[in-house]
Order: sequence, then structure tokens, then C-alpha cells
Amino acid sequence: MLAEIIAIGDELLIGQTLDTNSGWIGEQLSLIGIKVQQISSITDQESAIIEALEAAKQRVKLVIITGGLGPTKDDLTKQTLCEYFKTSLVLDQAVLSHIEKLYKKYRVPVSKMNRDQALLPETAKILPNSIGTASGMWFEQEAVVFISLPGVPAEMKQILTETGFTKLQTFFKPDPIIYKTIRTIGLAESKLATLLTEWENSLELLNLKLAYLPASGMVRLRITGHNLKMIEQKTAELTKLLGPVIYGYDKETLEEIIGNLLIKQGKTVATAESCTGGSISRLLTRLSGSSAYFKGAIVSYDNDVKINVLKVNAQDIATQGAVSQTVVEQMATNARQILQTDFAIATSGIAGPTGGTTEKPVGTVWIAVASEDRVESVKLDLAYKNRERTVLVSSQYALDLLRTTFL
Ligand code: AMP
Ligand code: MG
Repeated sequence: MLAEIIAIGDELLIGQTLDTNSGWIGEQLSLIGIKVQQISSITDQESAIIEALEAAKQRVKLVIITGGLGPTKDDLTKQTLCEYFKTSLVLDQAVLSHIEKLYKKYRVPVSKMNRDQALLPETAKILPNSIGTASGMWFEQEAVVFISLPGVPAEMKQILTETGFTKLQTFFKPDPIIYKTIRTIGLAESKLATLLTEWENSLELLNLKLAYLPASGMVRLRITGHNLKMIEQKTAELTKLLGPVIYGYDKETLEEIIGNLLIKQGKTVATAESCTGGSISRLLTRLSGSSAYFKGAIVSYDNDVKINVLKVNAQDIATQGAVSQTVVEQMATNARQILQTDFAIATSGIAGPTGGTTEKPVGTVWIAVASEDRVESVKLDLAYKNRERTVLVSSQYALDLLRTTFL
């Protein structure tokens, strides 16, 4: 069961509005077993709309279009649909009274332009828009379903969740697709792929698909198929194969996993952050309830703060540099004592783009985690050449060092 999405609107083509509608629709359709094969963005022009509808009709059984349903002159979708489906606009009494009610609620008089929103193509089934004035429309032609929806994201979502998806399920009876996401950290996509060759080859016979979705030091592995039992079995095999490289499943985040482990063990954590500038504590405090395990952070960006607040040995900074194993280990060890926690995470590195040397190029980051009886440290050589990503990945790896070596 294949579908296409067509996003209509000049604002999408000049980068003024991001097409978030298509992604959301694609995600929701996949959950009910309808696969989106293509997403296109087109201009507010009759010929472009007709061309796009005609082409999509040759390829798929469902075409969803969004945009161009406003009451103003630049919105042409409704008229174009009448032309394409050889029908004309008629007044829909139910839609009209809904519009009138809506305006009464807002205490605004209904204009002709608003009333015209109740003029709808005669052959279309109406998908009501309970929060706005532009209705959704459902057309059928030669066993292909076309759905036209307003561009306003909240209204588009409301229409589909209230009636659209149920109607699609009744009409097409798609076989739901099951997704399992396995979240990994620390291994590059190519390394993972090599490690998983044999396991991955076994998927094809079972009609399962695998996707590698890399993002900033992490790779999500997504298994897709129709057989839940098989997916669970393959996930269990993968869990055995990859061990601690897997930090979580489905929508779980690294900070959530770490938070849960800390709660379970009744332990607390603090951070001493130089190059990450507080980003680790930001990640840890994103979750409500984090006060149970996160005590605080010392953002020791300047060497004076490392020396005066964190009590790092000034001599070591002078001889080894702030970006060094001995300094990052002292940061972690001392922060743990100063902030009175079970663990402390520390970072010191060169996030760039300036400040690199041949000995310590941009992307050199030392991370350390201290507990009562030991301190573990790792040197990262990140090649991103992008400050934001270097900081994010350093923060995630520092958190993960706590997870893999202490929790
Ligand atoms: P329209 O139905 O064309 O009048 O769209 C109304 C508003 O919805 C536009 O001004 C955009 O801000 C927004 N919009 C339209 N299409 C999209 C889309 N594909 N993704 C996100 N927002 C959109
Ligand atoms: Mg528009």
C-alpha cells in the first residue's frame, strides 16, 4: 500500500516555511501500514498542482495534498481540484454553521470570504475541521484516493486524527508495519555494518528490513516488518551481539537511561565542564525528576576557575595544558568531592573552530568520570569541524562513559 504526499505553497519553495506537514503525515501513515513513496513540494499554481496529481495517480493508491486552502486569492487548491475532478462548488450547510459558530465564539462577524469556505466540491466527502474553517476533502478516482488538507499544521493534524486515519484504515485495510529501534553509541555506521553482516543477511529471508540512521556519534538501527515475534527475536540477537554499545530502545534517550540507572542504584552525579560549557548538565536536567540524581555543575571554562574553584593543580595546567588527562581527571575527582556526589563527569577540550594546535587539534577532547575509588578517562579525537556537534558528541560520550564503566 503506497502513498505520496504533495505539499503546496510558494512559502515552502523559498524556505520561508519548512514542510513539517509531510514528515508528520509520513510518520503517522507508516504506523498504520501505509508506506510513503514520495514527498514533493510544489508552487501555488494550477498547472503545477494538476501535473503533480496526475503523476502521483500513476504511481500510488493514495495521494495526500496539503496547503492552498486558505480563503485568499493565492490559495488555488480548491478551484483546481474542482477542475481536476470535473465537479463544482456547492454550499455545505453543516460546514457553514460550523464556521458561523466558530466566529461567534471569537466574537468576530463572518465575512463573505469566511462563508465561502463552506463552498466545497460536490463530489468530495468532507473531512471536518473542528478547529478551523478550511475543510479536508476526500476524492476517489479510478480506485485512487486523494485527500486535500489545509496547510496549517494543527488543522491538518486535527482532521487526520479525528476522521482521516480511521477512514483510510477502513478503506484500504493496510497491514500495520511494526518498527523496532535499537539505539547505539560509540561505533561508526561502517563498523557496525561490518560487525552485523551475518545477522543482517538473515533478515531478508524473514521479510524484515534494516535501516542505519546515524546522528552525532550515535547510530539508530531500525528493524521494520510485519511479524512482531520475528522482530523481537532479531532484536534479542542484536542485543547479545552488540552488548553495551546499545544504550536503549525505541524512543529512549541516553540521559533517560542514565537517570533511571542512577535512581535504581540510589546514586548522584555532578559535572565539571570546560569545553561542553554546561551541555551535559543541560542534558541531565531535561527530564523532570532529575533532581533525584543530579546535584549541579561547575562550568570551569577559564583556567582560574579550574584552579580556584575546582582546585586543579596550577602546575599541571602550566605543564600539561588544560586539555590533558591529568587536568580532566582532577576536575572530575575534585568536583565529586566539592559537590558531594557519588560520581562526577568532567570535560576539557578544543571545540573549535579556533584554538587548535598540531599537537592538540580542534576536536581533541578529554572526558573523565570519577567515583569514590577510581577515575576513568578517555581522549576523543572528533573530526566534525563543527562546534555545536563537537560539544554535543563530547557531552554524550562523557555521559556514556559513566553508563558503561560505572552503572
Ligand atoms: P494554506 O493552507 O496554504 O493557506 O497554509 C496556511 C499556512 O500553513 C501557511 O502560511 C504556512 O505557514 C503553513 N503551512 C502550509 N504548508 C505547510 C507545510 N507543508 N508544512 C508546515 N506548514 C505549512
Ligand atoms: Mg498557501
